[in-house]
Amino acid sequence: MFAFFHETLKDPLSRLADLRRNSGRPLIGVTPAYFPREWIHAAGGLPVSFWGAALPLSRADALLPPSCCPVSRSILEIELAGLTAELSGWVFTSLCDTLVNLREIFRGVSLRPTLVFPIPLASDPDCRRARLAALIPEVFEKLARMTGKAVTPDALAAAGRLYGDIRMLQRRLYETRRSRPRLIGARDFYAAIQADFFLDPAEYRLRLEALLDELANAAEQKELRAPQIFLSGMIAPPADVLVLLDRLGMPVVDDDFANGGRSVSRPVFSPEDPVGSLVQTLFGGRPCPCLHVPGIDRAAVFAATVRECGAHGVLFLPVRCCEPDAFERPVLNAALAAEGIPALTLEMEFESLPQESLRSRLEAFRDLLEESGR
Ligand code: SF4
Repeated sequence: MFAFFHETLKDPLSRLADLRRNSGRPLIGVTPAYFPREWIHAAGGLPVSFWGAALPLSRADALLPPSCCPVSRSILEIELAGLTAELSGWVFTSLCDTLVNLREIFRGVSLRPTLVFPIPLASDPDCRRARLAALIPEVFEKLARMTGKAVTPDALAAAGRLYGDIRMLQRRLYETRRSRPRLIGARDFYAAIQADFFLDPAEYRLRLEALLDELANAAEQKELRAPQIFLSGMIAPPADVLVLLDRLGMPVVDDDFANGGRSVSRPVFSPEDPVGSLVQTLFGGRPCPCLHVPGIDRAAVFAATVRECGAHGVLFLPVRCCEPDAFERPVLNAALAAEGIPALTLEMEFESLPQESLRSRLEAFRDLLEESGR
């Protein structure tokens, strides 16, 4: 059922030329996070999303210190190594200081144009709306310069429908996992979500529809009672960690990854309500540590989300050196402790992780959850 998605994620950079040729669209690299990909599609481009990659870092070291997160460093490495030569440009948001600086470095070293969408963080909602209203036409104009095609209302509506369909299908996949947690292994689940980053959206939509049809008729694996876990962090962990969770029989019921549940919970841009939908695209859905929303207590929302999905424990999988994530973890841990929900933190890298130590810590966590009757 998942072979196509796994195949898509096997060395996706080597397939960029085919993707560009087959789609007939210029490819635009999208860095983390929340840039409305439908805008790129409406401008005649095809968004390709980069959330970091496992590759040896040599060139990036000269420009970004090891104290920067591996997401930013590996994106810079693939650019400097010429692995993204098929791209016609890059888009950034101002999600965190690291990404703001990364964009500045790209301006100096990349041969391709870059565009930044500065997410307004004014605490006054009216100020945010006014700034977003001014930004939308500015960004469309810059995208048109990258792709050579202006954004038209019709193209925007069509792209909104396409990406809106994908969002709804991904939500159905999340709902399927919540209601039948043993049906889909963690490695398979995230392959189905992440293949979205490197496929033509029309094809991805068809593949997701077919997958959901198959899952509806598939039998859930019957197993002894196993503690269900919620995963949290900026990005889904490397495949070997997901395989370990599958092998240890720890079903994942939900997550709040920026490249998973957090994005899936956000609506897509709608030209019928440009500013209102953009506010929701950025600030709606599951809260993100990078985007402060006045009046929203992320810790309370987080604990409620974990409780409602039926998770017995939380596995925090922070990317090494991700400051926004690290700053909020104590308060999230405190909110979970107040509800009696156990949590474990395992720091993530793209480089090969110490499997034996990971396994021991996960087994101990699973035993703790089982013993506590959760
Ligand atoms: S992992 Fe954290 S520090 Fe790195 S780009 Fe993402 S939000 Fe920024």
